[in-house]
Amino acid sequence: MTSNSDQQNLRPPPHVLIFPMPVQGHLNSMLNLSHLFCLAEFDVTFIISDFSHHRLLQHTTVAATFARFPGFQFRTFPDGLPDDHPRSGHRAMEFLSSVKNVTIPLFKKMMIQENFLASADRRPVTCFVADGLLSFSADFCEENGLPLIIFRTATTSYFWALFRFPQLLEAREIPFQGKSMDGLIESIPGMEGFLRRRDLPSFYRVDDVNEPTLKEVIAVTMLIERAQAAIFNTCEDLEGQIVAEVHKHVPRVFSIGPIHEQVKYRLTEMKAESSIITASLWAEDRSCIDWLDAQPPKSVVYVSFGSLALVTREQVLELLHGLLDSSQRFLWVVRPDSVTGSDGNDQVPAELMERVRGRGLLVEWAPQEEVLHHPAVGGFLTHSGWNSTLESIAAGVPMVCWPYFADQTTNSRFVSEVWKVGLDIKDTCDRKIIEEAIRDLMEVRKDEFVESAENLAKRVKKTVSKGGSSYDNLDGLIQYIKSLAI
Ligand code: UDP
Repeated sequence: MTSNSDQQNLRPPPHVLIFPMPVQGHLNSMLNLSHLFCLAEFDVTFIISDFSHHRLLQHTTVAATFARFPGFQFRTFPDGLPDDHPRSGHRAMEFLSSVKNVTIPLFKKMMIQENFLASADRRPVTCFVADGLLSFSADFCEENGLPLIIFRTATTSYFWALFRFPQLLEAREIPFQGKSMDGLIESIPGMEGFLRRRDLPSFYRVDDVNEPTLKEVIAVTMLIERAQAAIFNTCEDLEGQIVAEVHKHVPRVFSIGPIHEQVKYRLTEMKAESSIITASLWAEDRSCIDWLDAQPPKSVVYVSFGSLALVTREQVLELLHGLLDSSQRFLWVVRPDSVTGSDGNDQVPAELMERVRGRGLLVEWAPQEEVLHHPAVGGFLTHSGWNSTLESIAAGVPMVCWPYFADQTTNSRFVSEVWKVGLDIKDTCDRKIIEEAIRDLMEVRKDEFVESAENLAKRVKKTVSKGGSSYDNLDGLIQYIKSLAI
């Protein structure tokens, strides 16, 4: 008699079709997931827009990493925008629409024309791992008899707060209708007692619950009920209770994060030759590492608001004054297209630049993970994007959170109230508040924050190590996908 695992070993290795939204934070984590699948000897087809693919090849070692895996291939598609379109800053939404209107139809056409799912040039496709923002995924999989695994790149708590939309509505907790933003939310199990209205996903900040963006966000969230499985870039130590709640609605939930740490661990464990992926769409300015080398230990605040957030010129000035008045050193990423209300040349007035010199450094894009692990970095002023938050947690760097949108408003509350590794200053942009928060983080409450951040980093690293829950969950995911291969 052959056992289940023997039977699985006799099956051909799986071929996974992966489709991320082609924006920075989604590409990072889904390329890391692809790397983990390649290490498990799966074939992987990774769908990406021509533009993002070109940028990845230009600025990263992704091509070299995946060249080691003959079963990996990129399939690229146009997005219909002219080459000189920035696809970021205030024009990022145009890019996302063109992915929906141009790239996805071309992808579907290719699937039919090449009979790709059944007779891809390697193996038939085993399952579709779709970015949780792709609304076509469930119909596509049902039409083609393909198992759907949804990958949510943001926090499980964010997902769960959106999934509870009907209950929030029934309990009249939304719309807010002028009620205090500090009032507590009671109809999201696992978040009672600390989640305020202002901490809900930013899409809830509407007067009308039929507002189109909110409706779209909720509709895409509910797709999970049509999926065979879901993957979250989180772990039990961070969101165990929330993952358990979500599990009641999806047959299989795999929390395998932080994925970037899982990749590092697996590469070391397997003594594999491929290296970790940094998936930057912008050129990294490495001069900041030389600058950090010259700074004292834990003396620098790293400031970055990710790849999508926009800041007004007034906010830049307020943040800059706050940082300067805090008397701390800082390294600040200011993406050129991220400042609104400015012609690009007047972002920082000359007299302020004088004050910055010696104390601070401004760059357009940094090697963020390396920066966060640099001994000179003692704090992170962040927009609380989920990748940035996970990278900071894993590096043991406490945060001041200044969230911009989406999951960030929820993540920042978890950072300050649940994981207690930072401060949340959402909904303010006042130089005094910024100065005080930075001083608290770097001086006044430094020992307390350093201790809790280092403890959390240890726990989170343990979870991706042999015997840890994320480690076991990744093995479970690999076994599950193998069981689907025929
Ligand atoms: N990042 C980077 N260099 C920078 C700023 C950001 O490499 O100068 C990376 C960062 O490490 C993270 C990603 O960009 O992996 C941003 O993702 P996140 O989810 O934090 O925010 P989003 O860009 O989606 O708002």
